[in-house]
Amino acid sequence: MYSVNKIILLTNERKEKRMAELYEIEQKGGESTIASVCPKCKKVSYIEVKSKDILWWKNGAMVQTAFSYLSADQREMLLSGLCTECWNKLFKED
Ligand SMILES: [Zn+2]
Repeated sequence: MYSVNKIILLTNERKEKRMAELYEIEQKGGESTIASVCPKCKKVSYIEVKSKDILWWKNGAMVQTAFSYLSADQREMLLSGLCTECWNKLFKED
């Protein structure tokens, strides 16, 4: 499990429609883990990022700018909060 120093509910300055319930779990060495609680199934997903990028994003940078190294799925999770499974059910049904 994670060695949790501090958990912060994340908010963003931007006026994006935001459903995601996100928490920052601070790690040592400038790394953070973002815990995302899926609004549909309540499953928690974890995304590893740099702590300074969270600060950048909180100050108004867009997700794709601040976290350019994340996959598209991970960035989408930061916006919608949906876990991969729920996202696939909603948008990738044929
Ligand atoms: Zn889900």
